[in-house]
Amino acid sequence: MRRLTKYAGLVGVMAGAVVLGARAGADDPEKKGEGEKSAAVAKKTVWKQHDVRRPKPKAVEAGEGGIAGKAPADAVVLFDGSNLDAWKRENRDEPAKWKVVDGVLETTPGGGAIETKAKFGDVQLHLEWAAPSPAKGVGQNRGNSGVFLMGDYEIQVLDSYQAETYADGQAGAIYGQYPPLSNASRPPGAWQTYDIAFRRPQFDEAGKLLEPARITVFHNGILVQNNEKPFGPTSWLKWEEYKDKGGRGPIALQDHNHPVRYRNIWLRELPERAKPGPEHVAEIKKVPVSGEVLDRYVGGYGPGSRASVKVAREGDHLTVLFPSRTTPLDLIPISETTFDMPFTDGQFTFQVDQAGKTTGVHFRIGDSERDMNWIDPSVKAKTKAKTQGKAKGKGQPKSKSKSKS
Ligand code: MG
Repeated sequence: MRRLTKYAGLVGVMAGAVVLGARAGADDPEKKGEGEKSAAVAKKTVWKQHDVRRPKPKAVEAGEGGIAGKAPADAVVLFDGSNLDAWKRENRDEPAKWKVVDGVLETTPGGGAIETKAKFGDVQLHLEWAAPSPAKGVGQNRGNSGVFLMGDYEIQVLDSYQAETYADGQAGAIYGQYPPLSNASRPPGAWQTYDIAFRRPQFDEAGKLLEPARITVFHNGILVQNNEKPFGPTSWLKWEEYKDKGGRGPIALQDHNHPVRYRNIWLRELPERAKPGPEHVAEIKKVPVSGEVLDRYVGGYGPGSRASVKVAREGDHLTVLFPSRTTPLDLIPISETTFDMPFTDGQFTFQVDQAGKTTGVHFRIGDSERDMNWIDPSVKAKTKAKTQGKAKGKGQPKSKSKSKS
């Protein structure tokens, strides 16, 4: 629940008053027309928002996990105990009204939510918070605040230590959507941590959703949200659909009229994964190689006198069988001697002597290279190890170690 101004009348009395809230939302004439949309979204999940039948996560003692020392070198420090320079009042051009007391940021009830002046997209966010002590109130009316990613997706902050509320509204919940996997809460007054990984939703140029947001949360070092995909921004009493807001938004902290405290807030902006361009996905330029030449390379290869890799012919190309695999892989000729691997950045370059007889192969995979001898099965007994040196790295083929990584 976000916009306290909008719901202020209800909030004070709504500690767990789900039914009252639901009616108020349904009767709101402003919401007409959106109801059907919301219902359609609701059908995507078995659970209704704030469904009290939804099982509560099991409590787990979190140990010492989570508390961070110094922020990483590339972090954007949002609050280090000294001031609120990185923050302002939410949706207004006004300073943040919260207090900094002894290096700790205190929610000032009625002061309004605060948000970062800067906007962020994909982030790793660390923050520490403490629920009021002694504890006061029940359900949602007990140490309630919240962390909003891109201004839209709330990770609930609530005193959920030995305290009941609906599952999708307790500490560590993606509010109203995903309960935490465990209740990792520490007692009121104790410092707790959220380490959040957030990937923003992706849209096409027409604003159509391509990929929902993704959220991972560790609460006190315990995984409570594992790459979950919210089905829209956080909203109260109904679900809303995604809207393209330009891929960046502020980090916001909720004022829910409770004196929740925060400290040590920083984030790291996450880079995009590199996408391959056309030059990276270009088809392998296969060249025709005669059956006679292909047959020349057939046989076993190994670093010593034992074959660990087997090359066979299959029509117009070769295949290679590694000891760690049960099925052979295609080798596509890109010249008379060099063969490409279609799914791996790897190449086999066969070596032949002056008489045209195969002597070995140079195998490169990624940045590892190795030379292997051609093992002539007819003279197996006589063959001596003739490793041609150059065994850089730990690349295949070497042993039965798994080739996946
Ligand atoms: Mg909240």
